Amino acid sequence: MTPQPPTLKISEIFASAQGEGLRQGEPTIFVRLAGCNLSCDFCDTKYALANGVLMSIDKIVEKIRSLGRNWPTRWICLTGGEPLLQDITGLARKLKAEGFFIQVETNGTVYRHIDVDWYSVSPKPPKYRFRSEYLEKAKEIKLVITKDLEWSTISILRNKFPKKAPLILQPQSHRKWSLQKAWRLYREAAKKGLVNVRLSVQLHKIYKIP
Ligand code: SF4
Repeated sequence: MTPQPPTLKISEIFASAQGEGLRQGEPTIFVRLAGCNLSCDFCDTKYALANGVLMSIDKIVEKIRSLGRNWPTRWICLTGGEPLLQDITGLARKLKAEGFFIQVETNGTVYRHIDVDWYSVSPKPPKYRFRSEYLEKAKEIKLVITKDLEWSTISILRNKFPKKAPLILQPQSHRKWSLQKAWRLYREAAKKGLVNVRLSVQLHKIYKIP
């Protein structure tokens, strides 16, 4: 029997502007992989946790090429769910061979040896665990401002990751209490001398775009 080509379970592939983190505003093609190893109650992509369609790497790249005809960008963001739960080695290799830059948005609990240009690491409650490889590799650390987030978590994470990687406070889906809490924590960080802590928003939610 002919071996089946490797497939990945995909929730959606779309073109938009990166809405979060330091790459905010840059045209990007997103590949959202289905499934996650966590189940955060504040998750804003719950639809991606269970469902998805199996696609071969060739089909994924074909879709990216087709979107790219009207959306010129060299950046592909592999997101989820948790994109590293599936073996994306082959996809990453193929994207690099085509000259793309790869961003991976991960909760930080999974790591794979692949050629990635930009890791956005977003440790999640209650334990905010992350793999030690990201201490070196994270380009940014995104922290969702939840009701339970405590000051000590910000302080601990800021002191663990190298200062060159900004710690980005990201209000939860623009809820008023979350914006207010982000501002309070941001001022507290300044007062206590924590460096490279930044305030942010989710651009795609303001513009109501994918
Ligand atoms: S880690 Fe991210 S994708 Fe997974 S459940 Fe939490 S918020 Fe959703």
